[in-house]
Amino acid sequence: MHPLALAGLALAAFAAMEGVAWLAHRYVMHGIGWAWHQSHHAPRQGLLERNDWYAVLGVVAAIGLFLLAGRLESPALRAIATGITAYGLVYSLVHDGLVHQRWPLLRWTPRGGYLQRLVQAHRLHHAVRTREGAVAFGFLVVPDPRRLAAQLRARRGAPPA
Ligand SMILES: [Zn+2]
Ligand SMILES: [Zn+2]
Repeated sequence: MHPLALAGLALAAFAAMEGVAWLAHRYVMHGIGWAWHQSHHAPRQGLLERNDWYAVLGVVAAIGLFLLAGRLESPALRAIATGITAYGLVYSLVHDGLVHQRWPLLRWTPRGGYLQRLVQAHRLHHAVRTREGAVAFGFLVVPDPRRLAAQLRARRGAPPA
């Protein structure tokens, strides 16, 4: 496979991960997997939270993909695994670092632009501490925080479904 095609494949895998992350967050973490994710919507006790098991699962899955790519001698699968791993790294840096300030060397809050909107949108996701009723399940694709806030206000005003 041409190196450019491999790079394209890695980029496509990176982009697709935003959709995978949205689906997993919306339907697994706020669904059947709420028991782990709940800890991420509550004030943190100590350094770790149960929700970190999702990161462990992600790392194990990525390592598994690289091992499989090696076994199959498939550069294409290795490119996909690289894109997925890159998304995981960016997610960890931005979500755990920038938004939740869990990385000691990344205590900086953006004061404008795309990154500020991203932080605001994710904070609005955390405005709801229950399994139901949250907004903004994606991450790098950022909806307008004003629209999210309006959505939250409308839900609070609405009678429970
Ligand atoms: Zn959540
Ligand atoms: Zn969060």
